[in-house]
Amino acid sequence: MIQGNIGVTTENIFPVIKKFLYSDHEIFLREIVSNAVDATQKLKTLAGKGEFQGEMGDLKVTVTLDPEAGTITVSDRGIGMTADEIERYINQIAFSGANDFLDKYKDDANAIIGHFGLGFYSSFMVSSKVDIITKSYQDAPAQRWSCDGSPTYTLEPTDKAERGTDIVMHIDDDCREFLDRAKLQDLLQKYCKFLPVPVIFGKKQEWKDGKYQDTTEDNLINDTTPIWTRKPADLTDDDYKAFYRKLYPMHDEPLFWIHLNVDYPFNLTGVLYFPKIKNQLDVQRNRIQLYCNQVFVTDNVEGIVPDFLMLLHGVIDSPDIPLNVSRSYLQSDQNVKKISSYITKKVADRLKSIFTQQRDEFEQKWDDIKIFIHYGMLSQDDFYDKARHFFLLKDTDGRYHTIDEYTALVGENQKNKDEQTIILYTNDTEGQYTYIQAARDKGYNVLVMDGQLDTPLAAMLERKLDKTSFTRVDADVIDRLIQKEDTNRTLLEAERSDKLSHIFQSQMPRTDKTEYHVETQPLGPDALPVIITQSEYMRRMKEMARVQQGMNFYGEMPDMYTLVLNTDAPLIQAVLADSEAATSESLRPIEAELKGLNARQAVMRQEQDKKKVDEITQQEREDLTQVGNDIRAQLDKRNDILATYATTNDRVHQLIDLALLQNGLLRGEALTNFVKRSVSFIK
Ligand code: ADP
Repeated sequence: MIQGNIGVTTENIFPVIKKFLYSDHEIFLREIVSNAVDATQKLKTLAGKGEFQGEMGDLKVTVTLDPEAGTITVSDRGIGMTADEIERYINQIAFSGANDFLDKYKDDANAIIGHFGLGFYSSFMVSSKVDIITKSYQDAPAQRWSCDGSPTYTLEPTDKAERGTDIVMHIDDDCREFLDRAKLQDLLQKYCKFLPVPVIFGKKQEWKDGKYQDTTEDNLINDTTPIWTRKPADLTDDDYKAFYRKLYPMHDEPLFWIHLNVDYPFNLTGVLYFPKIKNQLDVQRNRIQLYCNQVFVTDNVEGIVPDFLMLLHGVIDSPDIPLNVSRSYLQSDQNVKKISSYITKKVADRLKSIFTQQRDEFEQKWDDIKIFIHYGMLSQDDFYDKARHFFLLKDTDGRYHTIDEYTALVGENQKNKDEQTIILYTNDTEGQYTYIQAARDKGYNVLVMDGQLDTPLAAMLERKLDKTSFTRVDADVIDRLIQKEDTNRTLLEAERSDKLSHIFQSQMPRTDKTEYHVETQPLGPDALPVIITQSEYMRRMKEMARVQQGMNFYGEMPDMYTLVLNTDAPLIQAVLADSEAATSESLRPIEAELKGLNARQAVMRQEQDKKKVDEITQQEREDLTQVGNDIRAQLDKRNDILATYATTNDRVHQLIDLALLQNGLLRGEALTNFVKRSVSFIK
């Protein structure tokens, strides 16, 4: 028997392994099973090359649990090891400075274990003792290696009838959870589900005589040829769907899938699925599983898959993704960059081909996939350049258009006098019904843009497209949304308009977070008498403030609405006439006074305009200020009279309330008052 020390530079590597890798220690199973698979694959390769000519036997890997003995054994019929090979591959852990290294990567067990020849030693994370019983395919005596977690090991010849290796792990007392059959089954499912060599874990069980009992059928863990390893030409839609169900049993059928397959300049295979998103909860990142030669590595694909595609599902398998590095390093790795842009391109190409070849289907699924596409367009220029040709806009008739089709459709009709194409949209077809109707009556088309990313997308398209802007239908009265050559409707004289506005202004609700501004417009006798609009600009700024830091300024601003009074509408004209009749008596002296003051102010201004700034005397300045104050005082008086008049005017209140109601702004007491008033009108 040979005794020796395991060749690592650090005193004792085992406590280190245990300590640092504690949280991830379940991956020992993946390491030991994949070593067994590797040994099996190597034997097949040798046989293929004629270097091994013996009997292959049943090339499977078996995992055996013995709860009484407290062991887990992983057995294979692979190439095995000679004493010499054990010395070389197991006893000499081929790296130096283990402590430094472990320290650096202590948070990433994959980095430590996967690629630095520590795979086998991960068994010591859960074992107090590990035996290797192995017989090489070469003509050499079988060997038993044993180590109890101290730096010493023993190695001696042993009896073993068949070629291959058994790794016997004597599970540590504090890791006894791994001796649970169900737990072990789960771990094998997680890590070994798609290994290329059959992995058997005991027998299938069935419920019999009040307990689970072994049947005679092997409990096969894995599918050795998962679909991503097969040729797309050999696969049917049902195969893809069945595989999806296997990966995500709780999910609805996927919308589309994309089979990835590239072997130059890097190796990558996989299948990505567009999931059906039913609600916010379904928007989960990190559902893509990453494999390395069919061994499950992680479901954290950050840095490998472009951000917007992290919402997709599926698997990616690549031996070329360096997992032995930190995540931050990954992003700068050239291979990973290439992989990421390859995936983006493939996804874009696939969508494009569905769009061109199966447009109906594409349109049907558009509402479900648009979130991915919008996200991609917003976050990646290379994706935008491709998606620009196939992303769709949906209008209120339920028709879909590409942006080019759409500009061709509405371009001429919806051009304003500055040759700017105005694209109208709604984010609430019910709530903005009146505005949509007004636009349609004008022969305009209205888009439905109610997705989470529609607003930023509109802003992006405005930047990218020439002379095009997006405006929500309720942003202004229709004639001003798309302003054509100046209309020849007659404007109300400034003074009358001012009084009318004030009558309504004085009766607008006063709330903390909302401000109303009143103005008059001749909108034609058929248009509604009052309409509330909200400036596109302010609304967008506020929306952005909600999601972006550093824009608090806008976030703090109140919501600002404009109440537009249609001076062509008979009802507004009636209010105007009535108010003038009711107030003219009391306003006459004030207006006479105002007239005089205004005239004086105009003269004084003219005088001062002729002079240079330093020629204006202090007295002259004060006089001008005084006139200004006097005017304001008279206006206040006038406004008080108008407000008093308005307070008792049911028509004014009813019109205001109707406009508010239409925008969901009438609430609480105001709503009750409105209902009461309306009822009184019926009587
Ligand atoms: P890695 O697999 O990354 O090389 P490991 O520590 O897991 O590192 O294994 C070291 C070496 O031991 C392997 O490269 C292989 O040569 C040998 N080995 C491990 N397990 C087996 C096995 N089941 N059969 C044959 N050789 C094995």
